[in-house]
Amino acid sequence: MLTIRQYVRAESLEEAYTLAQKRNNMVLGGMAWTKMYNRSIGTAIDLGGLGLDTIEETDEAYLIGAMTPLRVLEQHVGLNAMTQGAVAESLKGIVGVQFRNTATVGGSVWARFGFSDVTTILMALEARVELYQRGVMTMEEFALLPRTERDILVRVIVPKMERSVCYLSQRNTKTDIPVLTCAVVRRGGETFAVVGARPRNAEVYRDTEGLLASGVTEEGACAFGESVARRASFGSNCRAGKEYRQKVAAVLVRRAVLTLDKEG
Ligand SMILES: Cc1cc2nc3c(=O)[nH]c(=O)nc-3n(C[C@H](O)[C@H](O)[C@H](O)COP(=O)(O)OP(=O)(O)OC[C@H]3O[C@@H](n4cnc5c(N)ncnc54)[C@H](O)[C@@H]3O)c2cc1C
Repeated sequence: MLTIRQYVRAESLEEAYTLAQKRNNMVLGGMAWTKMYNRSIGTAIDLGGLGLDTIEETDEAYLIGAMTPLRVLEQHVGLNAMTQGAVAESLKGIVGVQFRNTATVGGSVWARFGFSDVTTILMALEARVELYQRGVMTMEEFALLPRTERDILVRVIVPKMERSVCYLSQRNTKTDIPVLTCAVVRRGGETFAVVGARPRNAEVYRDTEGLLASGVTEEGACAFGESVARRASFGSNCRAGKEYRQKVAAVLVRRAVLTLDKEG
């Protein structure tokens, strides 16, 4: 059972950050994950009063506040138009609508789950993470921060740019945690894939061999899928073995490349 001794609705990021420095205190997102903890928390720090629950649009980027529910991200018109619906596709399998109304973008990114659809799509969109103390960094840099870090995730910044995105995942049942996640992006003649739920943090794999450089063919898509599956490392857990994940990765990357090509 989770026990909370004291609850504070932070009035500023500075207050939240200061409170978060104590090891026994904890920042709250939507609590969809932390409610399952079996521990006692000194002070639970609620960011709900800091206006971080919306997505702002500027000329260059979408600024996604840490407390934005996954459902708001899933339904965002601008982000879905920019990704041909890949954002909605990436989130629709996460449990159910009521759950996605509660779980937040900040909690999802901060937790760095090895099964995350959210991290996979945001990495594919070349998002950056803004931390209160450490400032702005790429998703890849954020993934490498020590888990003992006690910062506050303020927002996620998704740059606006012309790109084609296809998101696919493999699940044993419809709303289960994914066995593998995959996003393929084409931007300015370059193709790259992001593969997650391996089951470890998502990672970017570029077409370093130029397999798709002079256009997409069945053979090129297949070769790129095989190349990504060869370069990525996979693990086994109760959902799937690493050999299965490796085969699924090659298939999903190939399918995503061909889908992007078909949709032009
Ligand atoms: C049953 C179940 C199934 C799930 N299935 C999937 C799935 O299929 N795909 C998927 O991608 N995800 C899945 N998730 C994860 C889910 O989408 C959320 O990522 C998760 O619930 C965390 O979000 P939250 O807002 O509830 O965060 P919380 O549970 O409140 O917090 C998670 C962690 O992040 C910290 N934190 C929260 N916000 C901040 C912040 N702004 N700054 C610093 N630290 C912060 C908290 O202290 C805590 O350590 C699943 C979760 C559950 C419980």
